[in-house]
Amino acid sequence: MLIDTHCHIDAAEFAGDRDAVVRAAAAAGIVAIVVPSVMPENFAAVRVCCERHVLCRPAYGTHPLRVDSTDETALGRLRACLEREMAGAHPPAAVGEIGLDFHVPGFDAARQERFFVEQLKIARDFDLPVLLHIRRAVDAVLRQLRRIGARGGIAHAFNGSRQQADEFLRLGFRLGFGGAMSFPRATRIRRLASSLPREALVLETDAPDIPPAWLEGGRNTPAELLRIADALAELRGIDRAEVESFTTDNAVAVLGFRRQRFERTEDSSRGQRIEDRRQFQRTEDRGQKTDEFAALSRRV
Ligand SMILES: [Zn+2]
Repeated sequence: MLIDTHCHIDAAEFAGDRDAVVRAAAAAGIVAIVVPSVMPENFAAVRVCCERHVLCRPAYGTHPLRVDSTDETALGRLRACLEREMAGAHPPAAVGEIGLDFHVPGFDAARQERFFVEQLKIARDFDLPVLLHIRRAVDAVLRQLRRIGARGGIAHAFNGSRQQADEFLRLGFRLGFGGAMSFPRATRIRRLASSLPREALVLETDAPDIPPAWLEGGRNTPAELLRIADALAELRGIDRAEVESFTTDNAVAVLGFRRQRFERTEDSSRGQRIEDRRQFQRTEDRGQKTDEFAALSRRV
């Protein structure tokens, strides 16, 4: 039983076979997929995925690298979306993905920071955790988290120092690890993954991006989370079952999911998968149109 805490299943890369990709994830034992938005223009696509697939849980927000391609109304649209969705059948799991990215040149850093701060305030107002995208900006993100406050959340694709990791933990955050730790050269990430306390860790694919080493640059999918869990188990010298247990506990705790929901059948994981497949069948039977998945290209 695994939770993919970061997967762009609404991305154009999945336009041709999204149903099969989600079904394969369910067959691999993934019980929930958190789908972050990147800007108001893809809120609807994310929502449609979450209506169609019982595994998918939406998050809404504007990505730091999309701040320049959206306008001032984005913040008001986020607030309106959360107001509407919190009362609906598919309540948001988080605000995200939001954050700071000072890696790519040519972006307006001050504008990024302003959007980040305003979205942190919105998350605080709705008492939602946040999904953070951070590149070359760990200290700047931590500074704003301390200043504005947050209910916690996940630092996605974490690649900071041990000291910065500890500061996130102190602020109620978990750290997301995925395919990057499958590369032998990713020594810092691998060291963190093997040495951080287990309470710190959640798993993610970031599919279709960050393909693990074994995909050799091919499209990543949420079903890969199983082998990603194996990679973490190997780094820590423990069984995959242990990894499944603590990473799921951590994701459930930080995202406010109810674990019982995932344990609706007896203890056996086989039973779990059969029930997941039944649930899928019921969802598919509702026969919603696949062409509703607007092919919105993303690549962030
Ligand atoms: Zn992402």
